[in-house]
Amino acid sequence: MDDMHKTFQENLSAYALGALDTDEAAALRIHLQTCDSCRAELADYQRVSAGLLAALPPKAPGPALKRTLQKRLAARTRPQFKWSWSQVAVSGAFVLLIVLNIVSISQVYSLSELQAEQSRERYAEQTAIAMLAYPGTQSISFNQDGVAGSLLVDKHRNLLAVFAWHLPPAPAGKTYQMWLIDPQGDRTSGGFLAPEADQPFSMAVIASPQPLMSFVGLGITLEPSGGSPKPTGPKVLRVDF
Ligand SMILES: [Zn+2]
Repeated sequence: MDDMHKTFQENLSAYALGALDTDEAAALRIHLQTCDSCRAELADYQRVSAGLLAALPPKAPGPALKRTLQKRLAARTRPQFKWSWSQVAVSGAFVLLIVLNIVSISQVYSLSELQAEQSRERYAEQTAIAMLAYPGTQSISFNQDGVAGSLLVDKHRNLLAVFAWHLPPAPAGKTYQMWLIDPQGDRTSGGFLAPEADQPFSMAVIASPQPLMSFVGLGITLEPSGGSPKPTGPKVLRVDF
């Protein structure tokens, strides 16, 4: 029964996009009547896909693409017979269909990017929870300039998790960048910390590129969006470990 649920669950994103074939869609609708978790997940997908489609500017295919398609289509068929007007109309519709398909493939592609992003976030959350539960994890609390939280340090697995409460959203065009600080004071980027408007705390997991033993602290600075190779902006936080 669980296997069935898994299969249905895998089909949810395609279903939300209307990309599932009729039989599979009908079977999924029956399963949805009895499965709360699939229903909830579907609602998420529908929210995401509706939001995404609304957010995407309509992409008009370039005239070059249309010409190429028409030429290719014509080249393939022309030698065999002369086209009637209805055949021209049909082939025009066909070209339009191909073009629409390309547009929707690019939309599905952006959607899967978004899903990958969400699963990265979920992975980070699970890692942080697992670290909290791990007996060897060092936990350091901090409270600086109204930003309070904890740093979880797992030197054996070279993992670091930051929980920061009440960190205001970064100003427009800026981002919070985390730095691993070595004993000489050199900084190595540890990625970004992005407070979310609907959450009172922000959380990030850093998988250190070098053994954590070679670092002595974590710093956060405010940098231009996209980050900097070395810190340039104002210091937000420094926690030694
Ligand atoms: Zn289910």
